[in-house]
Amino acid sequence: MSRLCPCESKRTYDRCCEPYILGKALPESAEQLMRSRFSAYAMARADYLVATTSEEERAKLDPEELRRYCRSVKCISLRILSTELGGKDDATGIVEFHAKLLINGKRMLHRERSRFVREAGRWAYVDGDTN
Ligand SMILES: [Zn+2]
Repeated sequence: MSRLCPCESKRTYDRCCEPYILGKALPESAEQLMRSRFSAYAMARADYLVATTSEEERAKLDPEELRRYCRSVKCISLRILSTELGGKDDATGIVEFHAKLLINGKRMLHRERSRFVREAGRWAYVDGDTN
């Protein structure tokens, strides 16, 4: 399979986000995790979205609602605007991005500044400021 990765890295899916989504590899940076979560939205992999949310926030998630949301949204494109920390040796990270989405047939531009934290060696999504 050589289709392009939904995260727009210009690499093929199997050489980009798929190993993370299948649990065969761990993202080394907050940006990689952000990209793989975007791809998971695009592929409706709610299980991966739940698994990569920080422990505290995960408790508030409703996996069924997340699954429904994944099905209602089409991810068109992703653009990373900036990153702060989030590297191999960091404990926290911030990724700011633009995502073009189609929600129930309506185009929208989602801009978010997301916070990430490293938990037991793995990057996890905490939350984000939108607008
Ligand atoms: Zn990717």
